[in-house]
Amino acid sequence: MSTAVRWPERPDAVQVAGLVIDSIVDGPGIRVAIFCQGCPHHCPGCHNPESWAFAGGTEMTVDALEAAVMGNPLCRGVTFSGGEPFSQAAAFAALGRRLKAKGYEVAAYTGYTFEGLLAAGTAAQKALLETLDVLVDGPFIQARRNLDLRFRGSDNQRILDVPRSLAAGRALWYDGERWTGTR
Ligand code: SF4
Repeated sequence: MSTAVRWPERPDAVQVAGLVIDSIVDGPGIRVAIFCQGCPHHCPGCHNPESWAFAGGTEMTVDALEAAVMGNPLCRGVTFSGGEPFSQAAAFAALGRRLKAKGYEVAAYTGYTFEGLLAAGTAAQKALLETLDVLVDGPFIQARRNLDLRFRGSDNQRILDVPRSLAAGRALWYDGERWTGTR
């Protein structure tokens, strides 16, 4: 598994491609979605190829991102998306730890698989996994694209309950209607 990271990776700041403070399409409920800059996967058919280059975007500190989340009083969940959040794992792990301690549901998308991250992830990537409630994993595969899927682009991608998966040592699907139901 490639464990490409932003270079030099900063533990206190994320290179951000975009920020949506009232998203309703990046997970259930009203969420703050943080789209990071840089992705090593280059999936054919990617909806966001302008996020691939690691050189672009705007740097935002973990402090500033935390403040942006807390500035939306309706938000109870946060989604790290991309780009590839696991390419900036140290800063996202720091942000995730802070937000989880405040009671936010923390979710992330990744082009890696849960098994790949467990087997070959860096220490920072494993630390990020440990801060997550939900992980939507796997690359976008154009031949398996399905517009009926909720919060996923292709049917190889899985919506995983990360605490249960880490405890079991294997990928376990999120077991609730909020992420996997039809409404
Ligand atoms: S992992 Fe996501 S952002 Fe990266 S190339 Fe694949 S679909 Fe695009």
